[in-house]
Amino acid sequence: MATIQQTAIQVKNYIGGQWVASKSEDTIQRENPAHTDEIVAIVTNSTQEEAIQAIESAHEAFQSWSKMPAPKRAEYIFKFMDVLEQRRQEVAELLTREMGKPIREAHGEITKAINEARYSAGEALRLTGETLPSERAGIQVRTIRVPKGVIAAISPWNFPLVTPLRKIAPALAAGNTVVFKPATVTASMGAKIIELFEEAGLPAGVLNLIVGSGRSVGNTLVSHPLVKGVTFTGSTLVGTGIYKLAAERLIEVQLEMGGKNAAIIYDYPDISGAVDQILSAAFAASGQRCTSISRIVVERSIESEVAQYLADKLASYVIGDGISENVNMGPLVSQDQLETVEKYVKIGLEEGATLLVGGKKPDGIAGGYYYEPTVFTNVKSDMRIAQEEIFGPVLVVIPVDSFEEAIQVANHSEYGLAVSCFTHNMFYAEKAVEEIETGMIHINNGTISESHVPFGGLKNSAVGSYSIGSTGKDFLTALKVVYASS
Ligand code: NAP
Repeated sequence: MATIQQTAIQVKNYIGGQWVASKSEDTIQRENPAHTDEIVAIVTNSTQEEAIQAIESAHEAFQSWSKMPAPKRAEYIFKFMDVLEQRRQEVAELLTREMGKPIREAHGEITKAINEARYSAGEALRLTGETLPSERAGIQVRTIRVPKGVIAAISPWNFPLVTPLRKIAPALAAGNTVVFKPATVTASMGAKIIELFEEAGLPAGVLNLIVGSGRSVGNTLVSHPLVKGVTFTGSTLVGTGIYKLAAERLIEVQLEMGGKNAAIIYDYPDISGAVDQILSAAFAASGQRCTSISRIVVERSIESEVAQYLADKLASYVIGDGISENVNMGPLVSQDQLETVEKYVKIGLEEGATLLVGGKKPDGIAGGYYYEPTVFTNVKSDMRIAQEEIFGPVLVVIPVDSFEEAIQVANHSEYGLAVSCFTHNMFYAEKAVEEIETGMIHINNGTISESHVPFGGLKNSAVGSYSIGSTGKDFLTALKVVYASS
């Protein structure tokens, strides 16, 4: 049984610039997924009344924050980035202990968070409208952007730093205030973000933290009349529920949801180069990335070569506690996630797919939610393992007989987040860009996104304007049209 160490973090709410313990006695113990007997954090399942207090505090702070000159608002975000850089090692270690990803990836996430925050702070200076010619003499027509009010930011556990920041920093830059609900399993990273903003001197009430179950406090955030927009990243199932509730109040949402991302390899001579990129896109964060590649769609004549190379590379993969530098893949985030992966491996075998590698817990490592990187071959596109988001280290290989079929298979999914297409044929590359139904298309590289570029998806992967890039402000601001005569 897990023991509560003295180092376990008691995660509190942060409302109106104060850390406040919840009145609720309903708590959740969050264990280190690499050593499940170590409790990392104790998280209270806050009450709906506490969520409302956080919303009211954000509403009050909006009155002054929205009037602060935008460049001054940006300064708080720049200061936050400095504090994060200074405390990088501590943040990276917490990220690995709580979520399980290798420390190298945790540092990568911090770097990305800083780069994205820098872009978002800059966006404060680009909250521009436009001037338009008038049909009438003596009239000036222009548009201006105004902040919306309180934004609810609800995030998942797989990128517990960068995903919340992708919501919080642009919302603050645009002049909104925020109530942030992190995933319960990574709530202490949520609290760490607040701590860093507090150290950066952010005024009270501008950013509030409420911890607790999505079904309870998350729901309150979405339903409350003072909340003017919801930015959510998580599963398509939960996102759909949020969309319905928000629609009842006619407020806008920005939903980043699931994926079942394909990598096509067709007419591409550098097979090992392609597979190396696919491996890191498939097994980083133990396959728990929305843009993880989980399907390889390969020209039949090279299927066995691709399979052999995958098997050879994965044979030397080091699985273990990500806190050590030499680990390729850490544990899964939770017992639930481990059971989901085990369930799908069983389904794959029942569906008649061939297990190439993995399919079990690794030998010789105990005490964590470890699972071997797993590859199925002989997979058909309509199998459940090729259709449903597993969100774990499971990759399927689907052979095809033409490039047209490769595109059909890549598009044969309810999701439309990201795709990689490895081909040296310019005609195929252009066809992929034109015909593939995903928000992000990577030609001859893995599904790795960049910090200043719009991030989003099509189909059941997303609703609303993309985050980051120049489109996020369409969700975060309202447009006013001004007709002025002298
Ligand atoms: P999840 O179960 O949908 O939870 C996401 C967040 O929503 C958590 O904070 C959760 O709180 C909260 N929540 C749950 N039920 C809610 C409700 N009824 N109302 C309001 N909030 C609610 O997803 P997850 O398991 O954390 O993350 C995995 C999923 O996220 C995958 O499907 C993955 O593809 C997706 N994802 C997408 C992107 C993207 O950018 N497209 C990026 C990363 C992850 P609790 O933690 O308390 O349940």
